[in-house]
Amino acid sequence: MMADCLFCKIIKKKLPSDIVYESDSVIAFKDINPKAPVHLLILPKEHIPSVNHLKKEDRELMGELILVAQKIAKEKKLKGYKLIINVGRGGGQLIDHLHLHLLSGKLLELP
Ligand code: AMP
Ligand code: ZN
Repeated sequence: MMADCLFCKIIKKKLPSDIVYESDSVIAFKDINPKAPVHLLILPKEHIPSVNHLKKEDRELMGELILVAQKIAKEKKLKGYKLIINVGRGGGQLIDHLHLHLLSGKLLELP
């Protein structure tokens, strides 16, 4: 837990969110400013700032994030979806806690 990280606060339930999936290692909740009819964020509970901070031992965790996306998509019967990871400010990343955007339906703009 990083004290000043918004997503760590959501994970610790110190801030509210609309959670759609939770396990020991992963959480998924609705994006507060959706860019598509379905816009979820899927993230590891462990504070990893970005893809640039991933280590070899995080391989399984990253696979898990994608499998959670697949599971949610199946449950919600999505016809298709996009998975997006912004990396660094130049890549559009605003919150420094690694997260996967799951988007489905007509996209308003890229997150
Ligand atoms: P990124 O630009 O990839 O770092 O994405 C950050 C995302 O977090 C944006 O799509 C925001 O709309 C979303 N966001 C910011 N604050 C919250 C919050 N409190 N609850 C849910 N989503 C949030
Ligand atoms: Zn964090």
